[in-house]
Amino acid sequence: MTGEKKKKIVKTIKIDVDKCNGCRACEMICSSFHAQPKYSGNNPARSRIRVIREPLKDIYVPVYAGDYTAAECMGRDKYTIDGKEYDECAFCRAACPSRDLFKEPDSGLPLKCDMCEGEEKPLCVEWCLVDALIYEEREEAVEEAEPRQEMEVGLESLVDKYGYQQIADTLARISKKG
Ligand code: SF4
Ligand code: SF4
Repeated sequence: MTGEKKKKIVKTIKIDVDKCNGCRACEMICSSFHAQPKYSGNNPARSRIRVIREPLKDIYVPVYAGDYTAAECMGRDKYTIDGKEYDECAFCRAACPSRDLFKEPDSGLPLKCDMCEGEEKPLCVEWCLVDALIYEEREEAVEEAEPRQEMEVGLESLVDKYGYQQIADTLARISKKG
């Protein structure tokens, strides 16, 4: 079924890997912004942007957390750009089972960039002093689809990891305690 077309603001962050120096300020501010309570601490493992760093090869790749995926890829790509060989998965945005990136370290739940919801501009862009991250907005006509809720994505990842029955049993146990 096709939906009605609506105007939508598409938010983009352009990444210039040649300008990135691997300082990780973007990771610090993102994890701090998303700390509970806000700005109460920082831990790059909780950041929704991660910088793939290989200083000896002069490789720095800022990557934004995208969608969660339950299965890892069956095959991998290897990129060589300007003579630099990048790791498999270096440019991938998915929170997937084959690596630890983009997972909340305590719960293992997937993290996803929300463009700093509520802020005028993405904070990682503001904190990148060398302009490796550039924020842009454009208007597009798109078919309206129901956005998936963060809780739904999180629950799906738990079901994939532990199975439906174990999640249902745990919920039943918790609700009895309450
Ligand atoms: S703040 Fe900018 S230069 Fe520093 S790691 Fe992030 S993208 Fe790279
Ligand atoms: S836009 Fe905001 S949520 Fe997304 S990675 Fe940057 S600081 Fe984190």
